[in-house]
Formats: sequence, structure tokens, C-alpha cells
Amino acid sequence: MIIRLHTTATEAQIAELRQQLEATGVSLHPVHGEQQDIIGLIGDTSRVDLRTIESLPYVEKVMRIQEPFKKANRKFHPQDTVVTVGNAKIGGGHFAIIAGPCSVETPEQVIEVAKAVKAAGAGILRGGAFKPRTSPYSFQGMGPSGLALLEEAKKETGLPIVSEVMDISQLEYFDNVDMLQIGARNMQNFNLLKEVGKLRKPILLKRGLCATYEEWLMAAEYIMSEGNEQIVLCERGIRTFETRTRNTLDVTAIPMMHELSHLPIIMDPSHAAGMSRVVPSLSLASVGGGADGLMIEVHNNPEKALCDGPQSLRPEQFATLANQVFTLRDALGHK
Ligand code: PEP
Ligand code: MN
Repeated sequence: MIIRLHTTATEAQIAELRQQLEATGVSLHPVHGEQQDIIGLIGDTSRVDLRTIESLPYVEKVMRIQEPFKKANRKFHPQDTVVTVGNAKIGGGHFAIIAGPCSVETPEQVIEVAKAVKAAGAGILRGGAFKPRTSPYSFQGMGPSGLALLEEAKKETGLPIVSEVMDISQLEYFDNVDMLQIGARNMQNFNLLKEVGKLRKPILLKRGLCATYEEWLMAAEYIMSEGNEQIVLCERGIRTFETRTRNTLDVTAIPMMHELSHLPIIMDPSHAAGMSRVVPSLSLASVGGGADGLMIEVHNNPEKALCDGPQSLRPEQFATLANQVFTLRDALGHK
């Protein structure tokens, strides 16, 4: 970090600043220029609050040289992280498709979809039991009994399962869930992030609706700072000025996350598009763009789905898409 001081900064002010900064554990390297003084900070500057320093009347500008995320940063961890979920692996050249209904509804629905997506090549089964709905009058999910149905489907098919946890109080129901999803709306639920950071279980961290790459990686940092480094990032579309689609899939996030971080990134075209007919194009664009996996909503009867039916693929549509995805990966020379 570099601090540029105002020409009017006095010796006493500089001494005060020095004391304040050294208390955070960094070392200071002042450079006296002809016109202006600057101070270089060396060491772990993650505890230095840039905005507080910049608000001091004798400070002109503060510039970060390194990103504030350390554990998620590729600079300090050059090798790709590989996240293991049951028999599936994501990252470092490993690719997996997560598929299943938006929400768990009935035993028949879950089993039928689970068997179909497995046959088509999905490696992980998804299904929401606790649903973060925009309206309090919409179906809120089956709760713990929904997780029990997912567990049944896991026994039947052998597929590991992923489901969303919305609140710390729900964590007690997730013992048999292989991967925990933190939804877009909870990306900055810092207490929840810290709590799942204490688990030794992979986390699927969705990008917030309006989150920058840095905010998203700082959310990952919250989880990692508690010791859990098994994180898969999931881009699910961001809010833009476009209203025809539910969200806009940010494909640029794939190379950016691969550059900034060692964590794998998968794409969720279903929530980005909001319409099933757009899902195949977005999926193939994601695979072509180097995504480490996909998460796709599949329902055996989308017209009757209690949540996100319009964006859900039928099992046979999913099978066609999965086939194209694997063909494209082969063509690109991926394993
Ligand atoms: C979901 O996966 O069903 C979901 C609610 O996703 P998001 O948090 O991305 O909206
Ligand atoms: Mn959904």
C-alpha cells in the first residue's frame, strides 16, 4: 500500500500516522520527494483501513498494490484448488455438472430427476429445502423434510448432494448434506460465512446480485479465514439494465476469477437466464470460456414446479445439453 501525503503535512502529523500504522503490524518506508512525501507500507496490510487513512486531512491519496483477499488470492497460492464433493471433483482441470430441481417437492420428483440427471452425466444432485423467495407468500421450501428426501435420492443414486443453507439456525439439519450452498442473497451474511468456515465441508458460494469480483472474493475470504478452503465460486447472473432476461450471465467472471484466485468457478445459467430456452447457449458459452463446472435446474414437470419452473430444463433437454457439454469439452482437449 502506498500513502501520498499532502505537501502541508507536518512532522507531528506524520509521526502520529506512523504510530497508528505500526500498531497494525506493517513496516513503513517513507520516501521524501522534492514536492511531496510518500510512505510505502510493507507486510500484511489487510488490517489497514484504506478509507480511514484517506480521510485524514494530511493524506492526499492511498493506493493498494495488493488485493485485500489473501487466502483466496492466486498470488499466494498459485496451484488451482480442487474441491471434492463425494466422487465428484471441481477445479484444476476437473469438471462437474450439478443438476436437479430448484426446490425439493415430492419423493417421486426428486428420485425421478436424480436418476435422470445421473444417467445424463451429472456428478452432483442439487435441490433446495430452504428457499430464499422474494415474496413471503411464495413457497418457502419443505425445510428439514426436503433434506431427508435429498438424502434418500443420494442413497438411491450414489450422487452427492448440495443444498442451500440460509441461516445459522438451519445448519443442524445439514449433517448429511455433502456441499452447502450460500445463495446470492446471503453472499454477505458474514455470520453465516464465518460459521460455514468452521465446517470441514465444501461450500458453493454464489455471487451476490450486485457484487464486484473483490466483494465476492472477500466473502470467500471470510469462509477461508475460519479454516475452510474448500470453496467453489458460482456465477449466477448479475443485475444489469437489461430486463428481458432475469439477470445477465457474466462470462468474464471465468477468466477473471481464474486470474485473481485459485478457487474453481462454476456457472449457473438457469438463474442468469430465467428461461429454459436460453440455458443451453449460456452453458456452452461457459464451457467454452473455461468454467470448472455448471449448475443447472432440472424438473420433471416444469409447468407445475413450485419454484423456478420457467428456467428449468426437462430431463431429456438436460440429457441433450449434457451430451453437448461433454462433446465440447472433448473438442477443446479437456479431460
Ligand atoms: C437457487 O440456486 O435456487 C437460488 C436460489 O439461487 P440464487 O441464490 O443464485 O438466486
Ligand atoms: Mn432456483
